[in-house]
Amino acid sequence: MKKVKVNQDLCIGCGACQAIIDSVFQLGDNGLAETKDENNTIDTMEEDVKDEVMDALEGCPTSAIFIEEKEEN
Ligand code: SF4
Repeated sequence: MKKVKVNQDLCIGCGACQAIIDSVFQLGDNGLAETKDENNTIDTMEEDVKDEVMDALEGCPTSAIFIEEKEEN
């Protein structure tokens, strides 16, 4: 299963990812981006949502967004 994640050690809270696709990314109480966990599974995303997630990933100024691949258990 592939999930989109944010490395908050790199995030600077610019909000660009949320501006691109706010059904997946939000700025949390600490001012840094996080994923809405119920919506962060790449495998089940609509294609247009996936495209926007990839735009956000590529557009993140600090490369804080990444895809994590995990075996299901
Ligand atoms: S675009 Fe990158 S740096 Fe900006 S809020 Fe999103 S994860 Fe953080």
